[in-house]
Amino acid sequence: MDRVSNTTPNEQQVEEKLVRLVTELRKQGLRVTAQRLTIARIVFENIKEHPSFMQILEKVRETMPSVSPSTVYNNLQLLERLGLIKSFDVAGETRYDNAHPHVNVVCLDTGKVFDAEDNEDSVEIVRKLEKLLGGNTRVYEVVVYAFCREEESANREASGPG
Ligand SMILES: [Zn+2]
Repeated sequence: MDRVSNTTPNEQQVEEKLVRLVTELRKQGLRVTAQRLTIARIVFENIKEHPSFMQILEKVRETMPSVSPSTVYNNLQLLERLGLIKSFDVAGETRYDNAHPHVNVVCLDTGKVFDAEDNEDSVEIVRKLEKLLGGNTRVYEVVVYAFCREEESANREASGPG
């Protein structure tokens, strides 16, 4: 039965990914443990921030203070292998990200990583790149290095001209 739920789109996405994870784990004969699901939930909840490993570890430790870094790392590897997240390097640091095709921006002023507006244009750019590259090329990740004007203008407002 379909009911109007109070969950936000992000919460809904997290729930959907958890369902996919459980399905995949069962399919592959891997154990569905409470720890694994908790780590996955925290990763999915924070993935839009393009977190680094240390940022994820910190978040997980808020819930599970004694979790070992290798446990978190192994779970990240697993999520990536199952196609639920992906990773790419920014300035020598691995950042984790949503797996769906979209355009990422690295701000050269602040070092921040964020998604370009997550809409059909973003997906379209990825598809066009694949066409441009020809053959059976599958674009893994699109990263654009840019000077983000938003930050610039925010700085200007804060510190005045000059
Ligand atoms: Zn992204």
